[in-house]
Amino acid sequence: MTDTWSKADLHIHSDFSDGLATIPEIMQHVQDNTDLSVIAITDHNTIEGALLAKSLEHEYDLEVVVGEEISTKSGHVIGLFLEEHIPAGMTVAETIAAISEQGGVAMIPHPFSAQGVFGPFGVKGFGAALNELAFQALEVYNSMPFLVFANRVAAKVFAGGQGIAATGGSDAHVLQGIGKGYTVFRGSTTANLRSSIDALETRAETGKGGLAIALRYAYTFPRIRRQREWNRAVCKPQRVSA
Ligand SMILES: [Zn+2]
Ligand SMILES: [Zn+2]
Repeated sequence: MTDTWSKADLHIHSDFSDGLATIPEIMQHVQDNTDLSVIAITDHNTIEGALLAKSLEHEYDLEVVVGEEISTKSGHVIGLFLEEHIPAGMTVAETIAAISEQGGVAMIPHPFSAQGVFGPFGVKGFGAALNELAFQALEVYNSMPFLVFANRVAAKVFAGGQGIAATGGSDAHVLQGIGKGYTVFRGSTTANLRSSIDALETRAETGKGGLAIALRYAYTFPRIRRQREWNRAVCKPQRVSA
């Protein structure tokens, strides 16, 4: 068993949904400016950008997980290691089942934020949901600046150890945000990442530069919002995206 540990940012948006960067820009940035070995492209309600990234993977010194951030009837669910697009608008349980059917990993992102499956005050329902919902990973760290409180709740709830892999992601919508939240896993490839998630040995960490990133978001937010309006018109998700 390898004792190399690597970093993966499992929550990145491109301009295929409401991110600002193109897929080649993201991949070049990750290669030149980060120490990430693996990235997951997780656009809202589409895997087109992720599939494009996967097809370009051999040109870069990194590996790509095909993902999708799916708008369910009650919050966002991320599917990782997907092969086919999963439609928006199903229940959380149906969405998780659809992810599992194609052999993917269901990850609950920003679980206690407004768009999280458990809502901003949903900690009480969390225990019951753990039994009902067969998701495999919980994003205990999300680097969106206004989710500081939600992150704290997620980390606290998770501290009990629930048989679910802990993951971190940046939820980056701009290049500078990529890698600010990440998952540490054993090995360095997407296959290693998958094994590490299955073995529940991953952990979430945060990068430096939170304040600078918060300012960057404040600056670009009007553009992200415009793009989000467009995305919403195209994808018609059930709820406002985070
Ligand atoms: Zn997101
Ligand atoms: Zn989201």
